[in-house]
Amino acid sequence: MISISYYRIKCIGCNACVEADPSRWRVSKKDGKCNLVGGKEKKGVYTTQVGNEELTSIEAAKKNCPAKIIKYHIK
Ligand code: SF4
Repeated sequence: MISISYYRIKCIGCNACVEADPSRWRVSKKDGKCNLVGGKEKKGVYTTQVGNEELTSIEAAKKNCPAKIIKYHIK
């Protein structure tokens, strides 16, 4: 199991995470920032748990993000 966390307020809407992992990241039409698919918000941080099979794509999204706001840890 992998726990992803995402500090959405700092997102600059660059789309790099979507290019890396379009099944998990989508740019919002409302404010241009990215949404973490399946994420639940608490104090500005969105989190979700996903299966280990997503590790490669999560790693790619994290590396691509210039704002360094995508984090994960393996449980
Ligand atoms: S790569 Fe980072 S800054 Fe760019 S849209 Fe995704 S979360 Fe936002």
